[in-house]
Amino acid sequence: MNESVEKPRHFIRQIIENDIESGKHGGKIITRFPPEPNGYLHVGHAKSICLNFSLAKEYNGVCHLRFDDTNPIKEEQEYVEAIKEDVQWLGFDWGEHLFHASDYYDKLYNFARELIQKGLAYVDGASPEQIRECRGTLTEPGKPTPDRERTIEDSLDLFQRMKDGEFKDGKYILRAKIDMTSGNINLRDPIIYRIRHVTHQRTGDQWCIYPMYDFAHSLSDALEGITHSLCTLEFQDHRPLYDWCVEHCDTPETPQQIEFARLNLSHTITSKRKLKQLVDENHVNGWDDPRLPTIKGLRHRGYPAAAIRHFCETIGISKSKSIIDMSVLEECVRTELNQTTPRGMCVLKPLKIVIDNYPEDKEEWFTVAKHPQDETMGQREVPFNREIYIEQDDFMEEPVKKFFRLAPGKEVRLRGSYVIKCEDVIKNPQTGEVTELHCSYDPDTLGKKPEGRKVKGVIHWVSAKHAKTAEIRLYDRLFTVENPAAEDDFTQFLNPNSLTIIKNALVEPSLADADKGLAYQFERLGYFCRDIKTDALVFDRVVSLRDTWK
Ligand code: ATP
Ligand code: MG
Repeated sequence: MNESVEKPRHFIRQIIENDIESGKHGGKIITRFPPEPNGYLHVGHAKSICLNFSLAKEYNGVCHLRFDDTNPIKEEQEYVEAIKEDVQWLGFDWGEHLFHASDYYDKLYNFARELIQKGLAYVDGASPEQIRECRGTLTEPGKPTPDRERTIEDSLDLFQRMKDGEFKDGKYILRAKIDMTSGNINLRDPIIYRIRHVTHQRTGDQWCIYPMYDFAHSLSDALEGITHSLCTLEFQDHRPLYDWCVEHCDTPETPQQIEFARLNLSHTITSKRKLKQLVDENHVNGWDDPRLPTIKGLRHRGYPAAAIRHFCETIGISKSKSIIDMSVLEECVRTELNQTTPRGMCVLKPLKIVIDNYPEDKEEWFTVAKHPQDETMGQREVPFNREIYIEQDDFMEEPVKKFFRLAPGKEVRLRGSYVIKCEDVIKNPQTGEVTELHCSYDPDTLGKKPEGRKVKGVIHWVSAKHAKTAEIRLYDRLFTVENPAAEDDFTQFLNPNSLTIIKNALVEPSLADADKGLAYQFERLGYFCRDIKTDALVFDRVVSLRDTWK
């Protein structure tokens, strides 16, 4: 896919260009992608990754990968590794700019002390209930807790002792001293440090106090010299706190937080917490289940990274909330795969055909292009002989109008091969089920139109003798409703048909040694990818040829 096309304009690009022109930040551009390692990345994160890394690249800047690892209760090294893998797989490189909020624990601790010394933070020993009561509501101002008037010396001493592990979890917190009556609840003396006697995946037991998100995030940005800190809209109300932290601590750089609308995708969910619930409750088979919108799931499904990047570019960046229809992503996947995949034939529900006038001992190998437009992909050899299989759905004993495939007495073309005519239908006498067709072939129709008659239908097929049995996994949308996240119990709306397994499909022999992770277009069926997780011959349906969701 050509990715050098004119990039869409959006307001963030405008801000960056204005800043470069005015010489703000010395003309530098440094962005970051700051995941919390508490789950696997999903397609929403891809939007943020593409945005941050692409902007940095476009304006000769750099993009940092920074793990926001400030909550050791929920975070794990496993997620850290998976996130790194996913960012790389998406095609981005942080180079030497890999950071962790935990790299800054000493510095953050000193910033907190600085705030206490300036009279801008205090240690509060009020109970969580008291603190909640004093915070007020959206319509009522908050009230100070008694400790708000604690002296600087006392706070410094207690903060030191919090760090030294003298107190149990929750006994004290450190709060910024801003404004208990602020209309913005985030500014009502937010917590900036709390006690957590938990082992951290990187710092071990060195710390038992951990900084809160807003404090750690803004100051990590500032310490790294981030110029444009791009985040999703829910952080808009946190921006005054972000700015407050940077303003009152002695930091080298003043980053600007800019918010954009998060990606919501129809018929799925993009919340780590809810994804985790689906995995934990076994509604899906792990984080990389091909039905999930996780990067690992999309990759397992066979979505190309280029298609995801293209999608993120297509949907654009704005400040208005919306739900993007899944079909937009699927169309990006089709566009990409249509150009990049070799073709092949697979029969999902086989119906046997015997070609009576084809010699029993004869066998032909047709040379067929792997891609109809792209000669550079080369060719494949497709065997043909007296017995073949076609799709059950490509035969109708009593054809409806406009059914141009096979029917008694009718002709159809076998893709890349001859025209055949159905002469006889064999049925199971008990059930009436069609078990076999007897056909004749016209030897004059190889690569040629039949003489004196029109044959409209072209169907796919495989040679019975040479075909390999494969398992095919057909995936469909995970939810039956457009916005499952809006439902009380989203698990009630799981699509019961999101996975159909076909055990005995037949593929042409050239597909038998398909590389894992390689996608194909199975003629007339869709795009399929050799499953990356099993050695067996299993193909996952990436996407059908057309949008068939109703
Ligand atoms: P979740 O809501 O799934 O838990 P999160 O925002 O808590 O996601 P983080 O790891 O904190 O996950 O996110 C890292 C970055 O990815 C943040 O800058 C966040 O704004 C961005 N991000 C997360 N979800 C989306 C989304 N749906 N669309 C765009 N950006 C997103
Ligand atoms: Mg988060």
